[in-house]
Amino acid sequence: MVPTIVTQEVESLATNSSIVIVGAGIIGLDVAFALSERGFGPSTTVIAEYLPGDTAPLYTSLWAGCNYSGVSGSSEDQLRRDRMGYSHLAKLAAEKGHEAYVVRTPSIEFWDEGIPGNKLDGIRDYLEDFVVLPTESLPDGVKSGISFTTLTINAPKHLEYLVQSLKNLGVTFVRQKLSHIHTPFGSKETKLVFNCTGNASQQLPGVGDSQCYPTRGQVVHVKAPHIKYNIMRHGKDYFTHVIPRPMSDGTVILGGSRHPANSDTNAYSDETESILARTRQLCKELDQQPVEVLGAFAGLRPSRQGGPRIEREEIIVNDVKRLLIHNYGADGTGFQAGYGMATDAVNKAQDMLSEILSTSSSNIGDHMKV
Ligand SMILES: Cc1cc2nc3c(=O)[nH]c(=O)nc-3n(C[C@H](O)[C@H](O)[C@H](O)COP(=O)(O)OP(=O)(O)OC[C@H]3O[C@@H](n4cnc5c(N)ncnc54)[C@H](O)[C@@H]3O)c2cc1C
Repeated sequence: MVPTIVTQEVESLATNSSIVIVGAGIIGLDVAFALSERGFGPSTTVIAEYLPGDTAPLYTSLWAGCNYSGVSGSSEDQLRRDRMGYSHLAKLAAEKGHEAYVVRTPSIEFWDEGIPGNKLDGIRDYLEDFVVLPTESLPDGVKSGISFTTLTINAPKHLEYLVQSLKNLGVTFVRQKLSHIHTPFGSKETKLVFNCTGNASQQLPGVGDSQCYPTRGQVVHVKAPHIKYNIMRHGKDYFTHVIPRPMSDGTVILGGSRHPANSDTNAYSDETESILARTRQLCKELDQQPVEVLGAFAGLRPSRQGGPRIEREEIIVNDVKRLLIHNYGADGTGFQAGYGMATDAVNKAQDMLSEILSTSSSNIGDHMKV
């Protein structure tokens, strides 16, 4: 690929880290995690407009359900990243469980039109407790179903956990809205930048990716501590899910909807009614007793024609080679595939990481245990 030559004066930034990650959603934090595993925590700064703990309609990661599911596509890359994500989350659940807000939960998934493509072959050998449900046990209108042990995440709390553990590994966090993806290169020290800006990659100068579009999704939070398993139904033009939120006050996330190319972050009462009706039908325990509705919210999945962009771009600033790694477009899979995407993104920067390692006087390698 031909390098991009930056000749204009790049605005300066309050960091002199060798590595900058732009974005503190699950995608940026998973990159910070993957870098910390390799000992680069003290060389890394995460810069973002929104940080864990904030509440903002455009901060997608806050609004995730959130679990591992068959909602993703069945391309080779997607299946591979889902698999890596499953094993990463399973490890977190086993080793850090409550601290990381990730737990193992029984899950059932139904497809009205059958499991798409080669997904079944791609998942059956690694999902724990995996069973293909007998046809006679399936609800009316469902062609195939599976049960397995999934990983369920309390999304806002998990993001806060990641920030705390990354800070302990030497990662720095800075709140700033950047006006250009090249801004971090304003520091002479910054050699490597990861673009993890999600939906913002559509408009952000220096990226401006016209293949990006938001996919709106509404969820309804209810209080239903008696729900102890996840259940989903994938229909032709609908998607219904029930996901108990781990380590909460009995909150269950009901959904859902998918509205491509729709950036409306308002939540609508008729959609809430539809979600309540569909989830009551899907999960008999929800129908057995009245549940308190806590609120309805809409989030915007960062979708992209052709799937996520994980790509390297060489940048020459003042005659010096720098590296920009794009990592965005996770759509509805940022939590389940984020660690796999991060691993691919970090692998694309191997040459620059070796250079940073060879020139760094910092204590790279001293902070490797996540
Ligand atoms: C309703 C709903 C349910 C979902 N359920 C699931 C699920 O069950 N499982 C699953 O795996 N996924 C789920 N998802 C998808 C998941 O939430 C997304 O894939 C993921 O959150 C995308 O993360 P991100 O880091 O790319 O984006 P974001 O979380 O939006 O983060 C983007 C970051 O970039 C920063 N940024 C952007 N522009 C700039 C700038 N100019 N300067 C500085 N910072 C900037 C932002 O401030 C933010 O920190 C769901 C999504 C929705 C909406």
